[in-house]
Amino acid sequence: MTVNIILLGPPGAGKGTQARILTETRGMVQLSTGDMLRDAQASGSEMGKRVAEVMAKGQLVTDEIVIGLIREKLSEGGTGFIFDGFPRTLAQADALGALMEETGQTIDAAIELRVNDDVLVDRIVGRAEQARAAGQPVRADDNAESLKTRLMAYYKQTSPMIGYYHAKGLLRAVDGLGEIDAVAAEIAAILD
Ligand code: ADP
Repeated sequence: MTVNIILLGPPGAGKGTQARILTETRGMVQLSTGDMLRDAQASGSEMGKRVAEVMAKGQLVTDEIVIGLIREKLSEGGTGFIFDGFPRTLAQADALGALMEETGQTIDAAIELRVNDDVLVDRIVGRAEQARAAGQPVRADDNAESLKTRLMAYYKQTSPMIGYYHAKGLLRAVDGLGEIDAVAAEIAAILD
């Protein structure tokens, strides 16, 4: 069965990691607004230049921009989507609902990766250190200061999505503190 899902959780919860596993094991399509925005930055487009500073600080870019990016992807067709890092605000959640309806699709589950704040800092600082050691670029927002802003943005603007999808009967929570494979198994059990 083809399903479309949303991954919810704070920065560092493991959304990107689990999305990658789902693309590999189930051929699902990852739609990460963070990746799309970083691609826009790398391409040097006007929009990319406009969002760079906001992202580096750890703040949210405007709803208009990210909804536009998602609209474009959905208009290309396909299904079996994993929404990763989107929706991050109630306006984005409403827009996603409308876009799915327009394309005759549904959101089948919103999966919350539950973690403790203290592991998030360790994971993100660890990710930056690993990248540095490997001579790879470090994300401009993977530093202690931006992380504080990202966490605050999550709790203020994005965590209401948990109630939103709960009210729609779509919320499923998994333990994001387990090993990567254990988390993946919990997600697979929800999708099967
Ligand atoms: P994280 O690892 O914090 O989950 P992402 O890679 O998903 O990060 O996103 C990085 C940054 O891109 C965010 O801090 C924000 O500036 C911007 N961004 C990504 N998705 C959205 C969105 N849906 N709405 C607003 N801003 C977004």
